[in-house]
Amino acid sequence: MASSSSYSNPPCAACKFLRRKCLPGCIFAPYFPPEEPQKFANVHKIFGASNVSKLLNEIQPHQREDAVNSLAYEAEARMKDPVYGCVGAISVLQRQVIRLQKELDATNADLMRYANREVSNQMVNNQQRNMNYGRRSSMGAVGGPGIIDQTNYGFCVVPSYNNDNNSPNTWNNPEADDDSM
Ligand SMILES: [Zn+2]
Repeated sequence: MASSSSYSNPPCAACKFLRRKCLPGCIFAPYFPPEEPQKFANVHKIFGASNVSKLLNEIQPHQREDAVNSLAYEAEARMKDPVYGCVGAISVLQRQVIRLQKELDATNADLMRYANREVSNQMVNNQQRNMNYGRRSSMGAVGGPGIIDQTNYGFCVVPSYNNDNNSPNTWNNPEADDDSM
């Protein structure tokens, strides 16, 4: 607006709170806009305006915004939880990580058990198929357990004794029967 030159900017939230004139170059102005009065009120209550001012002057200008944001976060947490502050939130998240890690470990163990069971079933099926091989003609096209297509199970391979093309080294290694390797 053209009229802005004759109208002084409103003081930053810090200067307004401290009832002082917000001079050009005010250390607080870039980080405590007048629209967010509570941000400064919290930071001032927990850390004190002079400590914040000192801290901002001690660090590089490009670090000041991050510093103010972390101070504001910590101050707000401390207002909500005077005993633990941020540590309360960190502690909750750490417990959550531990719980989820246990859940993940249990699920991985289940997965291993199911995979092993599948391999055992395959071995039993193959033994049955070998036993039935001599009288297959009498079985017709009925899909008994001995003639399941093993290739549908990507995570387990046909045991080597069942297939002359597979060496024992192909066990648990579905890629190994790729001739291009
Ligand atoms: Zn100011």
